[in-house]
Amino acid sequence: MNAVKFLLDFLAKPENVLTSAKHARARVAVCHGCDKFGKVEPVPMLVLPGCTLCGCPAITKPRTLKYYSTEKGEVVETACPHEDGNKWAETDKKFINQNT
Ligand code: SF4
Repeated sequence: MNAVKFLLDFLAKPENVLTSAKHARARVAVCHGCDKFGKVEPVPMLVLPGCTLCGCPAITKPRTLKYYSTEKGEVVETACPHEDGNKWAETDKKFINQNT
């Protein structure tokens, strides 16, 4: 699968509600300081920087406010899954009113 097509297809899904680019960058900055940040392989042979807890690439999930979860079978709000709590919470509070 073409990696660029995979990523564009993910972001273009109608159920996805996107953040601003600035908001996504702020979330990724938080990820860069996180102990769970590393390499993920969302599809075979496509290794990208991302969250090792949820397996999402840093260039997809942080760009969404809502997305369709294949695991849950429904549209869910995007959140950081860290076991110590949502590390994006403060960043999201700062940006959320600018997105709506
Ligand atoms: S646990 Fe949260 S902050 Fe850490 S890499 Fe995953 S999404 Fe980013």
